Amino acid sequence: MSPKIIDGKAAAARVLAEVKSQVQAMETEGITPALAVVLVGQDPASQVYVRNKVLRAEECGIRSLEHKLPAETDESALLALIAQLNADRDVHGILVQLPLPGHIDETRVLQAIDPLKDVDGFHAENVGGLSQGRDVLTPCTPAGCLRLLHDTCGDLAGLHAVVIGRSNIVGKPMAALLLKAHCTVTVVHSRSANLKELCRQADIVVAAVGRPRLVDADWLKPGAVVIDVGINRISEGERSRLVGDVDFDSALPTVSAITPVPGGVGPMTIAFLMKNTLTAARLQQPASVTFAEHPEAACPSIS
Ligand code: NDP
Repeated sequence: MSPKIIDGKAAAARVLAEVKSQVQAMETEGITPALAVVLVGQDPASQVYVRNKVLRAEECGIRSLEHKLPAETDESALLALIAQLNADRDVHGILVQLPLPGHIDETRVLQAIDPLKDVDGFHAENVGGLSQGRDVLTPCTPAGCLRLLHDTCGDLAGLHAVVIGRSNIVGKPMAALLLKAHCTVTVVHSRSANLKELCRQADIVVAAVGRPRLVDADWLKPGAVVIDVGINRISEGERSRLVGDVDFDSALPTVSAITPVPGGVGPMTIAFLMKNTLTAARLQQPASVTFAEHPEAACPSIS
């Protein structure tokens, strides 16, 4: 059978459509989910990310509130803004765009966000909850990858997944989500021995490394499903373009399915940010809507 190129844009459009219809349903209860996005400084890439997040929110009917602060903002002013957003009952999600300027302690800032409004899933309460297998707000990129895997493979139980990379943003939460989905999980990183051999045993490979085209056909078992999280800008002559951590052309004849870069994982990240904002809005309602009562609001592994 010819390999499947996993269409992340189409999958993201489906997630966004689900979110939009659930936002409309909430509006009939008088609740408009709202996402506050905080940007400190003028990093051009961060500005683009923030603009895209705000646009997607508007498309889904989620109210967005932008807080743009100068690069010299001190930590106490940022913490004061977060405290204000935590207390505001009309704000359901808080996202602080990373990276923050060097004089601000990123961990302290992320820990200041109310865990119920932590739509990035970076607060220790949510990180711990995920590692315990609880339904919590989960980092958007691995959540998006898991949805692509479920769409492609169905039930993941018993499959061997190798995650390349152990960052807090992608690798570690990805491994936790795959474990929760009953995979056998191996996490490899820059100090791992026999990287290639370990990858060659995998039914699923998730590459989150940041090294252009590190993984080629030689690393892959025939029929493996490959999720390429990497986004690397390379120059080719006078031009530059984006490539993943996987050498797509080399891998394609070997795999059963693979995400392209761009157009694979990227669109899912932003779609799951919207999904998390909706989930956060539900979790904050006084009637205490639980994940069990509303499976659509639950951790992506079961939604
Ligand atoms: P980090 O730099 O935080 O982590 C990279 C990981 O890869 C580390 O664990 C590192 O190991 C490991 N690594 C580095 N080199 C090698 C190697 N040669 N062999 C094996 N492992 C190696 O990156 P992120 O996790 O934040 O991001 C990874 C990639 O995903 C980047 O390209 C990033 O741009 C992209 N990304 C894409 C997103 C999307 O929406 N599509 C969202 C987030 C990230 P060690 O821990 O030992 O240093």
